[in-house]
Amino acid sequence: MKHYDVIVIGGGHAGVEAACAAARRGALTALVTMSRDTIGVMSCNPAMGGLGKGHLIREIDALDGVMGRVADAAGIQYRLLNKSKGPAVQGPRAQIDRAIYRREMQSVVGLQVGLDVIEGEVSGLLSHESGISGVALASGLSLKARAVVVTTGTFLNGMIYVGDKKLRGGRSGDPASIALGQYLADLGMTRGRLKTGTPPRLDGETIDWSKVEMQAGDEDPVMLSYMTTAPSIRQVSCGITTTNNHTHDIVRANIGLSAMYGGHVEGVGPRYCPCIEDKVVRFSDKEGHQIYLEPEGLDDSTVYPNGISTSLPVDVQFDYVKTIKGLENVRILQPGYAIEYDYFDPRGLSADLSVTANPGLYFAGQINGTTGYEEAAAQGIVAGLNAAARALDYEPALFGRSNSYIGVLIDDLTTRGVTEPYRMFTSRAEFRLSLRADNADQRLTPLGRRLGCVGDARWQAYSIKAEEILRGTAMLKSAQVSAKDALNKDIQVSQDGQMRTAYALLGMPGVNIAKACALVPEFSEIDPAGRLQIAIEALYAPYQARQNADVLALQKDEALHIPRDFNYDLLSGLSNELKSKLRAVKPDNLSQAGRIEGMTPAALTLILAHLRVGARQHATK
Ligand code: FAD
Repeated sequence: MKHYDVIVIGGGHAGVEAACAAARRGALTALVTMSRDTIGVMSCNPAMGGLGKGHLIREIDALDGVMGRVADAAGIQYRLLNKSKGPAVQGPRAQIDRAIYRREMQSVVGLQVGLDVIEGEVSGLLSHESGISGVALASGLSLKARAVVVTTGTFLNGMIYVGDKKLRGGRSGDPASIALGQYLADLGMTRGRLKTGTPPRLDGETIDWSKVEMQAGDEDPVMLSYMTTAPSIRQVSCGITTTNNHTHDIVRANIGLSAMYGGHVEGVGPRYCPCIEDKVVRFSDKEGHQIYLEPEGLDDSTVYPNGISTSLPVDVQFDYVKTIKGLENVRILQPGYAIEYDYFDPRGLSADLSVTANPGLYFAGQINGTTGYEEAAAQGIVAGLNAAARALDYEPALFGRSNSYIGVLIDDLTTRGVTEPYRMFTSRAEFRLSLRADNADQRLTPLGRRLGCVGDARWQAYSIKAEEILRGTAMLKSAQVSAKDALNKDIQVSQDGQMRTAYALLGMPGVNIAKACALVPEFSEIDPAGRLQIAIEALYAPYQARQNADVLALQKDEALHIPRDFNYDLLSGLSNELKSKLRAVKPDNLSQAGRIEGMTPAALTLILAHLRVGARQHATK
């Protein structure tokens, strides 16, 4: 029987990131997946990034993850979302050529040192007295490992619905994972059902593009990876059209036939990504809903109509799609469908994404109740790094709310659990002024290097940029500018006779990099990426000081570790409801306890007092 340090089950977005991260950290790793050929498949929309999601890709990239680089190799249109708002809430997004993404991902996985790809269906796990010890394949083969990461996405007991028709499947064209779903359920973890849907795919050659609005990408495209400077393939435009009253009438008349509304699907769906049935019912006063016609690739005429995912019968899909401007004669290549699948309550996980009750077992991706490629990949990299840590006895890779969206994601999942498919938004991060897409490398690459997952090429690129930022910031902070000199350079400041640093002036509204260069000519020698970063830091500097105090308070509470076996029943002042929530979540620290729904300051003080008594008793032993 072959022995590995880490085995990753699943070759989706969580799986490839987990497997590559474990291998980069030095673990001998196997990626076991149903089909080698489906590694890197994008199950739904041909796009990556966006608000919150773009932040996650940048953080994965900062840790030398693969998603950003592969997406850039396949990027066919780039748009920076929220451009009119502050840099903190801007999100880089790209349309992706599906076939190139898949090919590039398979190549990256194939080239990763220390990583074997094994084709097969995992049907169960092996265990011994100290925890999980490997996997059993449906073929009868077994593989040993010191840690196992499960990233099975929408496949566990997956059921596909189109109208009143249903069939088992992990996604269109792929079998569901039944045996493993049952095995995991038998481990006693809390299981639930969630659902999601996808729109019909259209033949772009049958769309009347002259009738729809066309939207090109940005003129100065912002890449997803820090290691890419420009798109490498041809760029394309997307179309924009809308539904209308006629479309809505057809949907409304057939609503009872929808799998979602006909009572066939019991799982909860993504509120933020509603299907067309949902939109028509919930927003009945709206006369039209926007649809983005997104090309799926350069050599592929398939178009993904973003905004009309559905589980109506095929003939109804055909009828309503043809009412839409530009789609009157369209051919449907593949009908839309809904999928319902098992997930496991992520409150059963620790902050390193290990299953608390089963040492050596890690979960990442849609199995934890999330939706989206980026959310899956972000969990994958954390689970992979920590599975390697267990196998090799290395330091765990832990992320907090104050250093990353990855930390926000994991904390939200493990503390609050999910009631619907979870996706990332910038509003979920309380420290979003500092957790920006532009500075993910500054926040995380040094941590990744320490953990051993950042290679030399990225470290060198990072170090050069960090040095430039230090040099440029020092230049601006040491340049004292009088109010009069500032005005001479067209910078409107109050003529109060005060001296200000060029850095403070750059942070003022209306002062751009060109004006900073006019004040301090040697600033123009700083690398453009470094200058941009400095300008953004200067903009947020006044708010940063205030936020730093909150970050320190959070970090103090995060340092107050709560033992896993802490007996909440001993705290007589706690309500039974809070006791049961605390027992279920098993918070790792006081900060996490504070975020449990219904937690009160008085209850926290009680826990804190008991932690202190415990610490004192420990110290005097
Ligand atoms: P997946 O990408 O699903 O990968 C799972 C992998 O596990 C596959 O490689 C599979 O072969 C493998 N596997 C499963 N079981 C086994 C086993 N027993 N043994 C070996 N290998 C196994 N996201 C959005 O953000 N917005 C959307 O609108 C949206 N709509 C979606 C619609 C549909 C119909 C589907 C299917 C998905 C949709 N998604 C959407 C979700 C997105 O595709 C997922 O969030 C993302 O792919 C999850 O990544 P993952 O790595 O967790 O799992």
